[in-house]
Amino acid sequence: YQSSPIAGRHFLQIPGPTNVPDRVLRAMDNPTMDHRGPDFGRFGAQLLEKLRTVFKTEGPVVIYPASGTGAWEAALVNTLSPGDRVLMCETGWFATLWQEMAERLQLRPEFIPTDWRRGADAPAIEAALREDRSHGIKAVCVVHNETSTGCTSRIEEVRRAIDAAGHPALLLVDTISSLGSIDYRHDEWGVDVTVAGSQKGLMLPPGLSFNAVSEKALKATETAKLPRSFWDWHPMLKANETGYFPYTPATNLLYGLDAAVDMLNEEGLDNVFARHDRFAEATRRAVRHWGLEIQCEEPRHYSSSLTAVRLPEGHSANALRAVILERFNMSLGNGLGRLNDRVFRIGHLGDFGPLSLIGTLGGVEMGLGAAGVPHKPGGVQAAMAYLNGNA
Ligand code: PLP
Repeated sequence: YQSSPIAGRHFLQIPGPTNVPDRVLRAMDNPTMDHRGPDFGRFGAQLLEKLRTVFKTEGPVVIYPASGTGAWEAALVNTLSPGDRVLMCETGWFATLWQEMAERLQLRPEFIPTDWRRGADAPAIEAALREDRSHGIKAVCVVHNETSTGCTSRIEEVRRAIDAAGHPALLLVDTISSLGSIDYRHDEWGVDVTVAGSQKGLMLPPGLSFNAVSEKALKATETAKLPRSFWDWHPMLKANETGYFPYTPATNLLYGLDAAVDMLNEEGLDNVFARHDRFAEATRRAVRHWGLEIQCEEPRHYSSSLTAVRLPEGHSANALRAVILERFNMSLGNGLGRLNDRVFRIGHLGDFGPLSLIGTLGGVEMGLGAAGVPHKPGGVQAAMAYLNGNA
């Protein structure tokens, strides 16, 4: 399906969907089985069990045959009622889409702004919750890794902010572009609903999404009045008890998920995170060497799954991406919303190794030259020196 006349494999370096490893492709390339037969029950039960390791939870993880947007909706409709106030953080484009969804669902979101150059503001969350003495705010919603900006919010600080305010709001976290790439701990950080998707750190094609659900979130379903049917956790959890699903699951994607979870656990989650941290740092060194600006201004919020790079005034990020696609057969992420044409995004997550990184940065550096973007050559060299430990 790739139309490029350039030989060699396409470089899919957008921040998701990511490259699907051969082992996952092979796992999906198996006959679809009877999703109500005995083999499926055994397969489903062990998969649902081991999937918990990736979320670092002892509780249930619900799997939907849907993109991440569906899992956003599931998190809201299972726990909230029309008119409920929800505190959200405007970290970027995806936080804005989630906020718009909350409005359409007749929730009343309150949006704490940022300049799209840092993660969520934990002190501002604490202040808003302290002010809410009647506990009208029912949930705090944070995007862990804002894929539009390359800023990662500190969820443990958000948790501490909620606790410091002594507020009972639920904590809902979008980990669509962080799960399996950046350290994340559903239970330890007291998250009530974790929202995730298949197509990024989990190295699968698009098509699955997830909710990890706390006891407190389950309790909230008893009073939550937003209409829910397809997204309702209860029939799902009931069927999941024996490894089945209440409707036809995306069987072959689940085969892929089974292989992907094994791959992550075989490498070891801590090693997976360290690998992403290292490639992110190497990328930032290349960007700085080129003399370009990183969209994230707060080093504590640097994302390990992608880097958004700003272009100098008067230069088009979309034109640069078009040159790189046409000449070098590499896709990079575009700027979203107010960042359209201002930034391009380098995805360095998922099934990504040292030479994927050097190839990616090489394509960007050649593209900067070809598109006439002012820069200092040698960014790839700076990344290689860092990877070799002699930066
Ligand atoms: N949230 C974040 C942080 C994302 O990166 C994305 C997609 O890239 C979404 C939500 C929406 O997910 P989907 O496009 O799978 O519906």
